[in-house]
Amino acid sequence: MSPKEQATEQQNHFTLGIDVGGTKIAAGLVDPQGTILYQTRVPMPAREDAAAGFAALESAINAVFAAQPQARDALAGIGICAPGPLDPIRGIVLNPPNLPCWHNFPLADEVQRVFHVCAKIDNDANAAGLAEAIWGAGVGFRNVFYATLGTGIGTGIIFDGRIYHGRTGSAAEGGHVSIDYNGPRCGCGKRGCIEALCSGPAIAQRARTRLAESSTPSSLRELTESKFENLSAEDVAKAFHAGDALAKGVLEATADLLTVWMGNMIDLLEPEVIIFGGGIAQLMSDFFPRMQLELPKWSINARCCEIPLLLAKYGSDAGIAGAAALCRQQPWTVAPMTVRK
Ligand SMILES: [Zn+2]
Repeated sequence: MSPKEQATEQQNHFTLGIDVGGTKIAAGLVDPQGTILYQTRVPMPAREDAAAGFAALESAINAVFAAQPQARDALAGIGICAPGPLDPIRGIVLNPPNLPCWHNFPLADEVQRVFHVCAKIDNDANAAGLAEAIWGAGVGFRNVFYATLGTGIGTGIIFDGRIYHGRTGSAAEGGHVSIDYNGPRCGCGKRGCIEALCSGPAIAQRARTRLAESSTPSSLRELTESKFENLSAEDVAKAFHAGDALAKGVLEATADLLTVWMGNMIDLLEPEVIIFGGGIAQLMSDFFPRMQLELPKWSINARCCEIPLLLAKYGSDAGIAGAAALCRQQPWTVAPMTVRK
């Protein structure tokens, strides 16, 4: 078979995308165009031992094969995204707080050994960013900066269809870039990380503080006491969409902080596009024009306003699509430099 024919055949193969979370595993069959053809879910026994965790992963993969038998013989690879920390270069899950069953677990090698197909692992945001770059909102752009806004903030940097991993695979932790050393303490231990300022829980906290400190009328004041204690970013979103001024102010302040951070990211990377995914990206997209307008105050890049801010194509399927995309990464066009130990 000629290299061209080989490449064509490779393109026709399916990939499996497996999204491993703390309570469930989502597994999907993805075609070469990034369309999810089939997906299923199984529970993840994250607090049991390594073998039980791996058995759950195997059962998720086998469930896809059972429903889509054509996939088994035409599989280009199995991609897995899992909570960090992990080593994407060596395919090892290190010691994720949300997956105590796997400690220094060679997940990629194990999957390869059992299923006899190429296996790749990476964290959720890197994987989701890659899926956007090759199949989603980032198609046509060479360099993509991706941010997922949700319970936390994760980022991925994609250069020429490849994830930028850094020296040990720990690069692109943009959610833990601080913009205020006196800011609120982040879960990671640092102060003023953008995650501590603009994640879903941070938006809820900002709303609670404003409700306590101001007398601005707001429908959020009408929430019952127990609901008020558990006030969420979704409550703020609902109020905003109903025209609530306080909720709007909370989201504008969040957008302004994101803009400061985005200016830093642009000055560092100058990506061709910035893509927002995750649970609250849709909500924040109402503020993209505001962010774009304010951006020149926070970036020295004279052409920063030309960089499009886009909403991700993949929503709740970003994990499956991202994991599958790991098997579609572009090969290096030049040999990577040798890593000094
Ligand atoms: Zn942090």
